[in-house]
Amino acid sequence: MSRKILLEVKNLKQYFPLGRKSVVKAVDDVSFHIYEGETFGLVGESGSGKSTTGRTIIRLYDPTGGEVIFDDKVISNKKLPKDDKVYVNKHMQMIFQDPMACLNPRMTVMDIIAEGLDIHGLCKSKEERTQRVYELLRTVGLHEQHANRYPHEFSGGQRQRIGIARALAVEPKFIIADEPISALDVSIQAQVVNLLRKLQKENGLTYLFIAHDLSMVKHISTHIGVMYLGQMVEKGPADDVYMNPKHPYTKALLSAVPIPDPKVAKANKRIVLEGDIPSPIDPPPGCRFKGRCKDAMKVCSEINPEIKEVEPEHFVACHLYK
Ligand code: SF4
Repeated sequence: MSRKILLEVKNLKQYFPLGRKSVVKAVDDVSFHIYEGETFGLVGESGSGKSTTGRTIIRLYDPTGGEVIFDDKVISNKKLPKDDKVYVNKHMQMIFQDPMACLNPRMTVMDIIAEGLDIHGLCKSKEERTQRVYELLRTVGLHEQHANRYPHEFSGGQRQRIGIARALAVEPKFIIADEPISALDVSIQAQVVNLLRKLQKENGLTYLFIAHDLSMVKHISTHIGVMYLGQMVEKGPADDVYMNPKHPYTKALLSAVPIPDPKVAKANKRIVLEGDIPSPIDPPPGCRFKGRCKDAMKVCSEINPEIKEVEPEHFVACHLYK
């Protein structure tokens, strides 16, 4: 059975001017696609441009260049036809890292979850609206009694569940989860990831799952993309990227993932990255990772490597792979 591409990002650029002469290249020529019902894990350190990529896809910013195609519609144009705008607003939802910051503290959970239902006129009566919210609360592992409470009365994990229920209310096709577990305790992280997986199975959802480390991403992703300083440096099927990472940066990120088997963990040498991610303001020529790469060669300072397919569906941007 052929898989359908639900989201395609082509040569996406998101630049922010800084004063008259400088520009922050937060996202610089990034391309990837996500098949329907699958999860693309987008990984990178803070400042890599992964969250900006998510926000540009969902139209919080107008892209500087490139295209976003969602369900066969180009949605990155500044002037989107009204029908397409409504379609995107319904079928593309976002879950944020800090649910407290995006849940209105003065609204009850009932009204927060029902907001999308109201906007899109999806319920014919108050009773239907109430029942739908109760159903959504049960779906995410909360209770009907929670509907009349306010966000501050919940724990971080519960608030994230409310955020998920709100995103699910309008029955979207695609959810961008922007670091949805980073602020949660490790035990709660697994619960939220399991909930997202369950919902994906039941509803055929497609996810872009953004995270700063690879440990949780591996439990949910079918494909992985690794970003560094605004660019995609490696992407491919999740198993290939995990088992056979190519880019020195991916190797370093993977070496930091805890391994439960002590023997394997002992054999696995941790690669410590020196220094921080450089500034994305007017990046110098050459590979953007060169200052932190132990394999850097002369050419790395001169030419920024293009991302190329080195094995079927496995792409890498590095001069080590000709
Ligand atoms: Fe390292 Fe050069 Fe590859 Fe960049 S292109 S990751 S500097 S080897």
